[in-house]
Parts: sequence; C-alpha cells; structure tokens
Amino acid sequence: MRWLLRRCTRCGRYTLRRDRCPVCGGPVRVPHPPRFSPDDRFLRYKYLMAKKAGLIPP
Ligand SMILES: [Zn+2]
Repeated sequence: MRWLLRRCTRCGRYTLRRDRCPVCGGPVRVPHPPRFSPDDRFLRYKYLMAKKAGLIPP
C-alpha cells in the first residue's frame, strides 16, 4: 500500500497533493520515511559481521 498523505514542510498541514501545499504553496513531503533502504541493510550487515568477529561487545 502506498502512502498517499503528504505533509507540508512549511506549515505542517496534511494534503493529498503531491507537488505543492494547497494552503501556503510550500513543498510537501511524505511524513513517514521508508522502512527499509539499501544503506540501512548494508549497515546492518556490517554491524552483524563486526559483532560476529568480536569487534563489538554484546
Ligand atoms: Zn503549507
């Protein structure tokens, strides 16, 4: 499911528009960041490897 609701970064109002805030004309952004990103997965992998190698204390 796609997140349709956007939030204006200027006035903080929620809108369904994807380009501009209908109230103040400010830029809108998805209020919830994506749950997974390639960077996060890579960092998690590196962390697990370091933990396995004994570099990070439990
Ligand atoms: Zn606004």
